Amino acid sequence: MASEDLQKMVDMLRRGATLLSKACPACSSPLFKVDGKIWCPTCEKQVIVMREGEPPPPELSSLLLSSLANAIYDKLREVEARIRKARETDDLQESLRLAVGLLEVLERIKRLT
Ligand SMILES: [Zn+2]
Repeated sequence: MASEDLQKMVDMLRRGATLLSKACPACSSPLFKVDGKIWCPTCEKQVIVMREGEPPPPELSSLLLSSLANAIYDKLREVEARIRKARETDDLQESLRLAVGLLEVLERIKRLT
């Protein structure tokens, strides 16, 4: 551990942070709790710790789901172009199968949000 990292930890403790028994998943430094947030002094960022079987924090899951939905919309646009261009029945069938799969994911995202 670099001495400046140690210094950062000491500073955090001085500011009233609590030392946790968990380690940062990225750099394995000890984590601190400050203002209800878990913070890694080495990465200098907030760490979201998930315990097994515990649902992810709501802000994380809605962010993830909306970003997933955006990715699906992008793919749907690609599939739409493929459907328009399809000349062979096989091509068309494959593209339609893809579209149905993507729409199903969107439907599930909608049910979760
Ligand atoms: Zn870290």
